[in-house]
Amino acid sequence: MKCPSCQAPLHRILYEGMPVFRCMQCHGYLVGQKRLEGIQASPQTSIEGLKKEVIEESRPDTLEAIRCPRCRRKMDKRFIEEPASMYVDMCRECGHLWLDGGELARLQLAHEMKPQAQEARRFQQRLRTMTAEERAEFEANIAKLPGDNEALPLVLEMLSRGDSL
Ligand SMILES: [Zn+2]
Ligand SMILES: [Zn+2]
Repeated sequence: MKCPSCQAPLHRILYEGMPVFRCMQCHGYLVGQKRLEGIQASPQTSIEGLKKEVIEESRPDTLEAIRCPRCRRKMDKRFIEEPASMYVDMCRECGHLWLDGGELARLQLAHEMKPQAQEARRFQQRLRTMTAEERAEFEANIAKLPGDNEALPLVLEMLSRGDSL
């Protein structure tokens, strides 16, 4: 099978333990819907690893209609909102999704960070109304929290840039 975006050959690899097809050139993935659920259910890559993948592999969305590499049908552009909002290409015939470079990692990242992201949204409003002093104190308190705070710097960074996950 060839990449629907850049025509390079697709390679069968394991992503989070699930077989998917990857374009080594533009980093797109062809993923079956059930496999995508499997990928979300078995997180193996660290948040840092996923973040790196998003940064290094993100490509612009394919704008024109592309053909499914498996069954050659024209794929539909679908807007998905959860867990991350983006356009993906979906084949109605075989149910496979084409994810442009970085999109699979973005989906996985958003999925893994869902609880933190919800929490972040709750105090996003508060952060906006804080004075600079209150905010500095607040961030210092967060830094002092014990336990697994691996994701918090990332959440704060995204908030300060105004990104939505
Ligand atoms: Zn490609
Ligand atoms: Zn198909």
